[in-house]
Amino acid sequence: MKLFNSMTRQKEEFVPITPGEVKIYSCGPTVYNFFHIGNARPFIVFDVLRRYFEYSGYNVKFVQNFTDVDDKVINKANEEGVSFEEIANRYIKEYFTDAKGLGIREATVHPKATENIDAIIEIVQTLVDKGYAYAVDGDVYYRARKFEGYGKLSKQPLEELEAGARIGVDERKEDPMDFALWKSAKPGEPYWESPWGNGRPGWHIECSAMANRYLGKSIDIHSGGVDLTFPHHENEIAQSEAANGCTFANYWLHNAFLNIDNHKMSKSAGNFFTVRDAAAVYGYEPIRFFMLAAHYRSPLNYSRESLEQASAALERMYTAKDRIKFLMENGADGNLTERETAALSELDAFEAKFRAAMDDDLNTADAISVIFEMIRLVNSELDGAPTRAFASRAAEKLFALTDVLGLIQSEEDDTLTAEVEELIAARQAARKEKNFAEADRIRDLLKEKGIILEDTPQGVKWKKA
Ligand code: AMP
Ligand code: ZN
Repeated sequence: MKLFNSMTRQKEEFVPITPGEVKIYSCGPTVYNFFHIGNARPFIVFDVLRRYFEYSGYNVKFVQNFTDVDDKVINKANEEGVSFEEIANRYIKEYFTDAKGLGIREATVHPKATENIDAIIEIVQTLVDKGYAYAVDGDVYYRARKFEGYGKLSKQPLEELEAGARIGVDERKEDPMDFALWKSAKPGEPYWESPWGNGRPGWHIECSAMANRYLGKSIDIHSGGVDLTFPHHENEIAQSEAANGCTFANYWLHNAFLNIDNHKMSKSAGNFFTVRDAAAVYGYEPIRFFMLAAHYRSPLNYSRESLEQASAALERMYTAKDRIKFLMENGADGNLTERETAALSELDAFEAKFRAAMDDDLNTADAISVIFEMIRLVNSELDGAPTRAFASRAAEKLFALTDVLGLIQSEEDDTLTAEVEELIAARQAARKEKNFAEADRIRDLLKEKGIILEDTPQGVKWKKA
């Protein structure tokens, strides 16, 4: 599998540190609000990366953190007159509600910054001991210039970084480029005891500490949105590599922005839609489909039309799923026909094509096109008199791939009330007696109850409206 590595700016063959295992650290949300559709992009894309590795036989350790203490969390708590823990816990819970709706699986570990203060203090201490960090009045800063590779991920010359850092510089820093590892507590702020006095961690250091604790000193893949490249990921590299003396992450993956009217969707700019609000209109799954219909490194524009298109495309996938499942029970007896055997090998060829797309830097857009090609083929077979054996084998092959993308996961509620079952049976009896007026009356009655009937060569098929 080839992945585009932001560190080398090229697609590289993925080689894991430990054969058969992949260690991924993905930067998670700061929990002070519902997450927006832009935030959903990395969560969805890297969930697919993880699913694809698992499908390919890897044991995946996937860590995604919660930044549960920072200025934004504290400000929100002050606005509402509640504790910062209450805000963080509330939005962690809301994260899981939306993530579940979007088909984003729970990470192997979802560590919180506040539960890892000991690990954070330990790495800050190591950096102080090694001369990479210094304390001033209860704050601890990292000496960016001392780390030889500083700027290697964002590919910015030190002079440029320096010019950027000069704005509003804190006089206590030795150098404008230095950044905070530990912040002394202001009155009324939450704090933890440390060798440098009461305070709380800076943002960058939490990821270095938690990646180390949950995955080890060197990890395979580190991922996040492209806005995190600098300073967040650059600083994570400086911290981890200076503390541990080895490469922090072998592959850096960054998703492009989700835009709205060609501007980055962001909380601070106020041009955002929360996933919760969009899902209330379109449902969750079209948001996932929309995100995967583009390559993760291409900018993507959010619009009503694109979500409507995603809904229509998903509808086609669900119709195919329904039909296959019906024929798994109601298809013909007996072995695969010759034609069906040939169709199944064509499906295998499509599977190889799907894998080729995913192996090419996770090209989910092409992978989705392959799924639609498979659906077209399966549909044309199902138009004949398919065997149950064919429907089952086709289902296995098709759904293995839709599972990798986490699509068409919702199961139709296939239970009927006893009353509806009796009505369907009564209609069948009426049809047998050629009492078509009665059969039509029952069909209309069922329609009023939200049950749509379709007569197929394999018998009557129903669906909920
Ligand atoms: P935050 O909660 O702001 O720290 O962001 C969580 C994740 O969402 C990070 O990986 C960000 O890079 C990513 N992100 C934020 N806004 C966007 C956007 N408009 N498009 C794509 N990714 C984004
Ligand atoms: Zn991070």
